[in-house]
Amino acid sequence: RASVGPKYLSGLNPEQREAVETLDGPVLVLAGAGTGKTRVLTTRIAHILSQGRARPAEILSVTFTNKAAREMKHRLGQMLGHAVEGMPWLGTFHSIGGRILRFHAELAQLKSNFTVLDVDDQVRLLKQLLQAENIDDKRWPARMLAGLIDGWKNRGLMPSQVPSGEAAIFANGKGGKLYASYQERLKILNAADFGDLLLENIRIFREHPDIVRQYQQRFKYILVDEYQDTNVAQYLWLRLLSQAPSSGSSLPGLTRQSVASSQDGSPGLDASRRPGDDQDNALPIPGAEKVHVKNICCVGDDDQSIYGWRGAEVDNILRFEHDFPGAKVIRLERNYRSTGHILAAASHLIAHNEGRLGKTLRTEDHDGEKVTVTGSWDSEEEARGIGEEIEQLQRQGEKLNEIAILVRASYQMREFEDRFVTLGLPYRVIGGPRFYERAEIRDALAYLRVINSPADDLAFERIVNTPKRGLGDATVQMLHDHARKRRIPLFEAARAVVETDELKPKARGSLRDLVTQFDRWRAQREVTAHTDLAQIVLDESGYTEMWQKDRSADAAGRLENLKELVRSMEEFENLQGFLEHISLVMDREGGAEDDAVSLMTLHSAKGLEFDNVFLPGWEEGLFPSQRTLDEQGRAGLEEERRLGHVGLTRARRRAKIYFATNRRIHGTWSTTIPSRFLDELPAANVEITESKGGSGWGGSGGYGASRFDDMEAFGSSYSTPGWQRAQANRNRGGQGGGGRGGFEEETASFSTSASPDFGSFSSR
Ligand code: ATP
Ligand code: MG
Repeated sequence: RASVGPKYLSGLNPEQREAVETLDGPVLVLAGAGTGKTRVLTTRIAHILSQGRARPAEILSVTFTNKAAREMKHRLGQMLGHAVEGMPWLGTFHSIGGRILRFHAELAQLKSNFTVLDVDDQVRLLKQLLQAENIDDKRWPARMLAGLIDGWKNRGLMPSQVPSGEAAIFANGKGGKLYASYQERLKILNAADFGDLLLENIRIFREHPDIVRQYQQRFKYILVDEYQDTNVAQYLWLRLLSQAPSSGSSLPGLTRQSVASSQDGSPGLDASRRPGDDQDNALPIPGAEKVHVKNICCVGDDDQSIYGWRGAEVDNILRFEHDFPGAKVIRLERNYRSTGHILAAASHLIAHNEGRLGKTLRTEDHDGEKVTVTGSWDSEEEARGIGEEIEQLQRQGEKLNEIAILVRASYQMREFEDRFVTLGLPYRVIGGPRFYERAEIRDALAYLRVINSPADDLAFERIVNTPKRGLGDATVQMLHDHARKRRIPLFEAARAVVETDELKPKARGSLRDLVTQFDRWRAQREVTAHTDLAQIVLDESGYTEMWQKDRSADAAGRLENLKELVRSMEEFENLQGFLEHISLVMDREGGAEDDAVSLMTLHSAKGLEFDNVFLPGWEEGLFPSQRTLDEQGRAGLEEERRLGHVGLTRARRRAKIYFATNRRIHGTWSTTIPSRFLDELPAANVEITESKGGSGWGGSGGYGASRFDDMEAFGSSYSTPGWQRAQANRNRGGQGGGGRGGFEEETASFSTSASPDFGSFSSR
């Protein structure tokens, strides 16, 4: 009987089907990973359309990433058997908010062609404002202000609504005023930052009831994926749109209420302030008692809330029934994604969190392979080992598309990218540029390319005025003219031009210095190791300094990437070999789309699934991250654990965890300790394996073991898997950490963190 009805419904279980077919009123699907939440949403759209309940343009569907939106569109086409015409409102909060804002730009004092600023631009602009106000931006960095403003925007607060207590924490109380002048500057520049895309929507909706009513009327159905990671602004936005169009003249007193509640001077950042608080009193429209909440369906999983650090409020999902009275809550318990061992490992791990609703997850799939845990001597061996395992999987007929490597920190990617290029394995990086495509890396490479080949005009042009040395467009144009006339490279043109008086003295001096520098570096190349040379070039050219002086949010990250670049050169014999390798990496742009290994952070893996998932770097200080270890309280650590849970639950058939005993983080080696999360995995579902990437280090000699020999800390017995030895050391409170830079410090910081679960493995 269950299969009666349209074909797209036939594969669903009864609970899923209920979630699809309950079209009227608010619905919350609160369910664990892989239970079909996203599938329910997609099927629900198909159902709404094929039942003729709404036209495509009357459905608003919010996904967490653009990729997820594309995927949903594609699936929808498959379900309906035809492409969906005009399905315009399927996208992320930002993309939809941006689209709405363009329609009403004039109400935000913008033109409809406004630009959206990225973080760099944002920080640059703030820096100008700080200068104008004579505020020392060493003491009060622009990036800190950018972070504050972002936080306020995530909470839906306009400048006038920022609690005075919070505004006071920047530049002796000037925070709020700076936020206001920043907003003014944006308007003058015809620009909006990311936060504005929603915030300006909210403001327009509040101030113009007729406009919000238009949208309320238009969107007959609202669907939201990954609801556990919505922030307050997103919540408010949804809340405004999800009210049935009111016939009354004014909207709920959202504005008044939130101003009132946010100006009480309370710190506001603490847990006592819940997103719903602004609205509790506000929801009933004064004088029009019943506000109809219309057909909104949100799906999510509190155990997968991983964006708390960016202002997401898991409470949004916990309070759904309260916020949307009469909501139907549906739970899905059958996981369709992962095999038994993987699901058990993931469930066991997340059970260590305290603040959770708790839920049952079962699979009818077979147990499958156990989750493997593999220790390596260092991160290079880890990358080598994973590379080999991937090749082996490939030989067994696995598709590369079904293989993903999920890292905790993006710098971990570089080693894998290099490994893949060496092996000729196609790969793609999801959710960010590939390492060698980052701007600072391209700049640095350009210097090296000009040294290697003075005729590399593209490279020369890239860096001739980076950092700024007064050689602007006019100069470059002149060099071009010279070069073309005489058929010589730009660099040689520069050498010739500085001997003439064609340039103004200042530019001429500057260009001469640059030419001389390059000549010197080229001479040095003969006698200096290429890694040292790279460092010298970056320092002497002023490039390193340029980023040191830059106080934008990601300057520190760029400096770290530069260090990582120099470090990565060690693996090559000379500059020439290194640059050849790079050109191979760069050459692969775009071409890797067909069948390729996916490389991404755990954060960007949300919602995705792969047959084979590799999880490297499960070490204290990396995963969980050092920041969360330094923090007071459990919140950060619990979020890291959820991240681990997200990682494991991405796997359909194989989940493989790795940790290395030595990791070079931004150029410095440190000895690391296996992640506490390893102890929290259930022994029965896990298998400890040997690294394929090197000599291994769990047992029989080899360089791994002999180096452990020097480090008494790891205990005397090689027959104990090394990471248990490390673990034991951790539990001893870090006593006896021997001999190696960084080790004692690392150990000491964990001395209080003995896991209650320690032993779940050693009892095996
Ligand atoms: P996550 O929390 O990770 O986002 P999810 O709950 O959104 O997971 P989906 O991605 O929708 O889960 O589904 C997981 C997998 O299970 C998908 O491959 C989906 O096609 C499959 N699936 C879901 N429901 C069913 C079903 N009733 N029958 C067969 N396969 C299903
Ligand atoms: Mg999903």
